[in-house]
Amino acid sequence: RPPVVAIVGAPNVGKSTLVNRILRRRKAVVSETPGTTRDRTYQRAEWAGREFTLVDTGGMEPAAKVGLEALVTLQARIAAEEADVVVHLTDARLGVTEVDAAIARVLREASGEVVLAVNKLDDPADDSDRYRFYALGEGEPYGISAEHGLGVGDLLDEIVARL
Ligand code: GDP
Ligand code: MG
Repeated sequence: RPPVVAIVGAPNVGKSTLVNRILRRRKAVVSETPGTTRDRTYQRAEWAGREFTLVDTGGMEPAAKVGLEALVTLQARIAAEEADVVVHLTDARLGVTEVDAAIARVLREASGEVVLAVNKLDDPADDSDRYRFYALGEGEPYGISAEHGLGVGDLLDEIVARL
């Protein structure tokens, strides 16, 4: 069974965009396995010769903000339980939010491998907004633009190094 990499984060930070970027870029979709619940998708991916299962945890996102923190931290808990590496994705444009802090607390309690990524850094000449995410205490924040593919290779290198 290949190792599992789960992407967690608040709604709209770009989790699904990142998953699509990773799969498209390497043309690495082998199969789509139906998840254990309809809220999660599991797909085969590969980077640098390492095969893994990529989990997008987006499906539970509520229309209203009510209960958002509880839902997102529940997703983080499930991800930490089932994944070998959890990618905590954040949005550079929002800065560090309460939801980000709540996710970081859950992941810290779970004490698994966590890689912090800061999305929507679309300007290749300026990734300075990533530095404030050191405040989450999850180590080096990897600056990426899932939409444009910037930084995604370095992020994947870090992910597979932790597998
Ligand atoms: P999810 O809810 O975390 O799965 O987020 P989505 O992948 O659905 O993306 C939410 C919104 O953010 C969409 O409008 C995306 O186009 C946008 N988005 C995702 N990645 C980027 C990025 O790298 N840069 C910018 N500017 N927008 C992005
Ligand atoms: Mg999504």
